[in-house]
Amino acid sequence: MTTTIIGYPRIGEHRELKFATQKFFKKRISAAELQQTAKELRLRHWNVVKDAGIDQIPSNDFSYFDNTLDAAFLLNIVPKRYKDLGLDGLDEYFAIARGYQGDAGDVKALPMKKWFNTNYHYLTPEFDQDTQIKLYGSKIFDEFSEAKSEGILTRPVIVGPYTLLRLGRFLDGKKPADFTADLIKAYSEIIEKLEGLGAKWIQIDEPALVYDQTPADRDLFKQLYDDILPNKGGVKVLLQTYFGDLRDSLDLVTSLDFDGIGLDFIEGRKNLEVLDDVKFPADKILFAGVINGKNIWKAHYAKVLSTLEAIKQRTDAKVVISTSCSLLHVPYTLRNETKLPDSKKKYLAFAEEKLAELHDIDAIVASDLNNPAYTANVALFSKPRYEENKELNAKIAALTDADYTRTPARAERLKIQKEEFKLPELPTTTIGSFPQSRAVRQNRSKLRKGEITREQYDQFNEEETKRWIKFQEEIGIDVLVHGEFERNDMVEYFGEHLNGYIFTENAWVQSYGTRGVKPPIIWGDVSRREPITVATSVFAQKQTDHIMKGMLTGPVTMLNWSFPREDISRELSTKQLALALQEEVLDLEKHGIKIIQIDEAALREKLPLRKSDWYSKYLDWAVPAFRLVASKVQPTTQIHTHMCYSEFGDIVKAIDDLDADVISFEASRGDLTLLDALQKNHFETHVGPGVYDIHSPRIPSEQEIIDVIHKILSKIPADHVWINPDCGLKTRDEPEAKASLINLVNATKVVREELANENK
Ligand code: GLN
Ligand code: ZN
Repeated sequence: MTTTIIGYPRIGEHRELKFATQKFFKKRISAAELQQTAKELRLRHWNVVKDAGIDQIPSNDFSYFDNTLDAAFLLNIVPKRYKDLGLDGLDEYFAIARGYQGDAGDVKALPMKKWFNTNYHYLTPEFDQDTQIKLYGSKIFDEFSEAKSEGILTRPVIVGPYTLLRLGRFLDGKKPADFTADLIKAYSEIIEKLEGLGAKWIQIDEPALVYDQTPADRDLFKQLYDDILPNKGGVKVLLQTYFGDLRDSLDLVTSLDFDGIGLDFIEGRKNLEVLDDVKFPADKILFAGVINGKNIWKAHYAKVLSTLEAIKQRTDAKVVISTSCSLLHVPYTLRNETKLPDSKKKYLAFAEEKLAELHDIDAIVASDLNNPAYTANVALFSKPRYEENKELNAKIAALTDADYTRTPARAERLKIQKEEFKLPELPTTTIGSFPQSRAVRQNRSKLRKGEITREQYDQFNEEETKRWIKFQEEIGIDVLVHGEFERNDMVEYFGEHLNGYIFTENAWVQSYGTRGVKPPIIWGDVSRREPITVATSVFAQKQTDHIMKGMLTGPVTMLNWSFPREDISRELSTKQLALALQEEVLDLEKHGIKIIQIDEAALREKLPLRKSDWYSKYLDWAVPAFRLVASKVQPTTQIHTHMCYSEFGDIVKAIDDLDADVISFEASRGDLTLLDALQKNHFETHVGPGVYDIHSPRIPSEQEIIDVIHKILSKIPADHVWINPDCGLKTRDEPEAKASLINLVNATKVVREELANENK
């Protein structure tokens, strides 16, 4: 058999690209120096893949920022406002990616969105009346030639036209059909040019095929490729898909003249069933994604082999062994994890180790099951990895409806809470964190390096909390927060106090641009080892007569921003997390915390890509998991939740079903259209639509905020509304954060006054 991968991590094992890029942005190194670092990384990575024995090696999977932007840039899908800056090459590219403010002008970045169901962000291509698609950049050609001159013949990768159109934003009344002819021409030229440079294969990524396909979608896909593929000449074209199955398009794609089709057999497990219905032609090559490109567990070779066997039973086509998606979504290597014991590491595989797995599988298929790599793997999986917490799982199995149901009903509770808290109309609050200033970060790093004691560390954070409580009191915020100074990260911090979690030192995964996140790993059954936030919240509450809001990360977000287990269901893991958090909630309540916010920043991110799976595969357990956390509190305890996005118009019902008392969400960047959806669905949860954007350093004026509040009040009854920023303030500077909050409180006071006058 042959082996390949869909793409490889590009920032470098020590995040070299991130550091070089940051230096370049600060003008501490030149473009040439940045390009040199990039080149070294590309060469290193090609060689690593090659030396691991992988047969087909991709190129152009490298990016300075994002591959979707790379494709748009190559095709001249660059909005006029960026062209008008008159910048060249890399500068223009970064202006689109990050916005530009300088001598040439002032433009915002293109909007960023989550790439399918991952935490990686792509830049949304924008199509408008000025868009003229044609070959513009040369990156894909340059990188192919660069590898070739090093003696490595690669398979250039590009995001396909169909996915670009599906992900694109269309302005000026334009629609996808207006661009198909030019896209066909441009992709044909790209293939032709690559052939001229000596390419044998090219890989076109069309992950948008794993969404639900309408007949019109299928027509669009067919129209594009019916006209591109006749121009492929001697180059073979691999159509690559990932993150799901082709249940409604495999018949179509196999009928077209692709030479290879890449299918995901991990998240797209259903592809096996699809292959029962649609015969995969024997004259095409099936690239089988059998090694998980998203998760960090060592592959269970017997299972991989049985998947390959199942594929072979369904087709006579030649099979290439591949990953389920680009390895971009896993950390680089286990080699740099010095603190994890071997007893743990032997169960893990990051990108580099996954290359070895592909090679092993290939070797095992070619030899027999006496292959040492196979016997070692069988031995590893023959023993349990950890000891199950039977008591916990029995408890979960015994949960009944009552455990997921809070009483009395929300309307009743909200009345009781109103009596209890006596908050003013339009109560003001913030989302939790205050600026993680240099001093706050230094304090943490000193503790880590052992330069200060735990007591000194806590004391610094307490002083910071006191200072910010005083500020909140002075300006007149109604429900206070302690500021979250003790948290490095909203998931890792909780994980550190739970049984069942393990942590890495260097396992960064790209999130946006060259920035990464370092998700912790859910290793075993999760339970609360000790109180997590109780001491901090109680300390903060003692400093003030106002209500101090407790602050937790919700179970679904804990799961979604960790590497999940594969030996038990996500549902069970999330319920374990929910029970651990339930203990924390009850503990907070017992210690006098009256309002508790349970953040679900990542709830929407893992919504299945196909709508038909939303409830059956996700919301039907994610929503109950949240409810479980809060179901046992007194009616006088108010439960808040927070979500960092406003695109939940289509799951408004599910959000209301969380049965929280209050929800805050991002709204300031959208046009508040969600409010219509809330109104239409008779949304019962009280709401704090963020009244200003915390992602920008801009300070919103009092009048601006008044206008937003007016808009909110035109859709939502005043006694359901809270006033708050749209997310935590940890990334902001102190002066900005303070100035904005002062305007927020003053704006609220003005509107309260207006309401009082209306009611006279
Ligand atoms: N409570 C968290 C904070 O304020 C919420 C962060 C988030 O929504 N991502 O930082
Ligand atoms: Zn948020």
